[in-house]
Amino acid sequence: MVAAYGPVGKHGLGMVLKIDQSELYDPVTRQLKFIVPLLTMLVFAGMLLLRWMVMPLVRKLVKSEHETLAANIMLRDSETRTRAVLDSVDEGIIAIGENGVIEIFNPAAERIFGYSGSEIVGQNVSLLMPEPHRGQHDGYLKHYLETGESKILGVVREVMGVRKNGASFPLELTASEVRVEARRLYIASARDITARKEVEQHIMYLANHDALTGLPNRNLLQDRIRQAVAQARRSKERGAVLFIDLDQFKTINDSLGHDVGDLLLKAVAERLVSGLRSEDTVARQGGDEFIVVLPRVTNAQDAGTVAQELLDAIAPPYQVKGNELHAGASIGIAIFPDDGEDGDTLLKNSDTAMYHAKEAGRNNYQFFTPGMNQLAAERQSLGTCLRHALARNELLLHFQPMVDMTSGKLMGLEVLLRWQHPEQGLIPPLKFIPLAEETGLIVPIGEWVLKTACLQLKAWQEQGYEVPRLAINLSTRQFRQKALPETIARILDETGVEARFVELEITESILMDNTGEAVETLRKLNDMGLEISIDDFGTGYSSLSYLKRFPIDKLKIDRSFVQDIATDPDDAAIVTAIIALAHSLQMKVIAEGVEEAAQLVFLSRQGCDQYQGYYFSKPLPAAEVVTKLQRRKA
Ligand code: C2E
Ligand code: MG
Ligand code: MG
Repeated sequence: MVAAYGPVGKHGLGMVLKIDQSELYDPVTRQLKFIVPLLTMLVFAGMLLLRWMVMPLVRKLVKSEHETLAANIMLRDSETRTRAVLDSVDEGIIAIGENGVIEIFNPAAERIFGYSGSEIVGQNVSLLMPEPHRGQHDGYLKHYLETGESKILGVVREVMGVRKNGASFPLELTASEVRVEARRLYIASARDITARKEVEQHIMYLANHDALTGLPNRNLLQDRIRQAVAQARRSKERGAVLFIDLDQFKTINDSLGHDVGDLLLKAVAERLVSGLRSEDTVARQGGDEFIVVLPRVTNAQDAGTVAQELLDAIAPPYQVKGNELHAGASIGIAIFPDDGEDGDTLLKNSDTAMYHAKEAGRNNYQFFTPGMNQLAAERQSLGTCLRHALARNELLLHFQPMVDMTSGKLMGLEVLLRWQHPEQGLIPPLKFIPLAEETGLIVPIGEWVLKTACLQLKAWQEQGYEVPRLAINLSTRQFRQKALPETIARILDETGVEARFVELEITESILMDNTGEAVETLRKLNDMGLEISIDDFGTGYSSLSYLKRFPIDKLKIDRSFVQDIATDPDDAAIVTAIIALAHSLQMKVIAEGVEEAAQLVFLSRQGCDQYQGYYFSKPLPAAEVVTKLQRRKA
């Protein structure tokens, strides 16, 4: 119950008002009953509305947060990957901005250029280039930015780079442009090609140089001649091509072996090089042939002076593997533009002139003249004719007596080949035997000589003449025929000549064959009963120890020593030594080319066994030599 009291006027009276509590609060309660659920509902509805409106935002927020996270991870990932790629590639990667400043410099670039990334990033890329590019690079870049013209982008180029230590080196470079938003980046990939260039250079060197002497080879020579001719044309000057062929090199090579021959060629090459100016070219044409190109000569005679200097430089003796060797040379000179304006013509003409130098007695030089071509052509046609000479019966034999020194008795006849040319008359063997050797015709010709000589001997014997022996010359190429002993045996058999009537003349070079085949062939021939003599002894660099290994019966002292025997003490000493040597090895000895009594007297005093030469008789045709033969006593 809720009661309230209030006085009523001044009468001391009051009034109490009582009301039941529930009755009092009833309207409120009634209102509350309505408002509370309504409010609750409103709150609830509001919350629902709020949730409905906020949730997507939240979700969006969460999602975007996730995405950011993922993107961050991916970015980090991709950066790591890009870094990893940049770090691991073998190519140097350098990125620069539009101002030419380096922004990226990967480890390979660090290795290539020698800078660390931290010291080079931020610097201008031109630092990596040699002058003049270093100074011009900013200009290139500016020009490109203004015009869009570039010869560089997207092209693989070989350029030079500069390392931190200042050394420049070859690079292979490709540059490309990438756009990053509004910016342009230039990315260059660079590869150090020093090693590749070295290999390329080495291959180029091998292709252009002679492996033995290191001199330019035929290839490079052609190029040098072309350049020299062009230069001479521009400056209206002359130049010269010198064709140098060593004399007697083949003998040295055959007799002392290829290794000695090679060393000699190297030594000659060195002397040629040191005898010339740096602008001159010395090339090796092959074998024992060298070519010198003089790009500038004031007059033709200058080339002759140079040729003589080269001959003088070549002449002094060489010490090679314990041998003292002498090398001479024959030089042919062609002047350009007079004698030709291209490599082939100049080489051909200088070669022709060189042949003339050889024919003029070697160890000299000759200038090319147009008339020489005529002679070269004749030589060529001689070769063709020689092919037919056998079939056309143009070959014949002459015979030269070999005589006993003391008794003057005939000891044998040397068989010497002649060629009766239908137009040129009688051609001596030195003119065509080298040709026959070159072409291989010597083999059938040699067989013809053997057979014809044996037939002649048989005929003389049947006519009752006494011919103690025939000496037949064998050339190197003939001797190298594997079947030589069988061929000779067959010819002896067919002609009915006994082996003891035949002597074979071989040269020293044959003995120096290291394969042992020569010893075997000579043994076979010796076993068959043939005598062996060494022709032109003393000219062939033979080492004396070889003489013991071979079954040799006789040494023939070369004509060149006999010639001046009576006047030249050196020749006299050599001949005396050869005679003593032959005798100490139980060989006989014969002197060739005896023309005078004085020579005979000297030889006789030294105890030489036999002689041969114009003094007694020139080589004669069969019909004439017969007068020197004795009839067998009936
Ligand atoms: P060789 O075997 O040394 O012959 C000696 C040469 O000297 C011959 O020259 C001969 O005529 C020459 N002769 C002889 N006595 C004198 C003299 O007193 N004074 C001068 N100045 N010379 C003299 P030929 O006949 O011209 O022969 C030259 C070379 O040709 C021979 O030298 C020989 O190596 C080679 N030869 C000749 N016939 C043949 C052959 O049938 N086969 C082979 N493979 N070579 C041959
Ligand atoms: Mg001979
Ligand atoms: Mg001789």
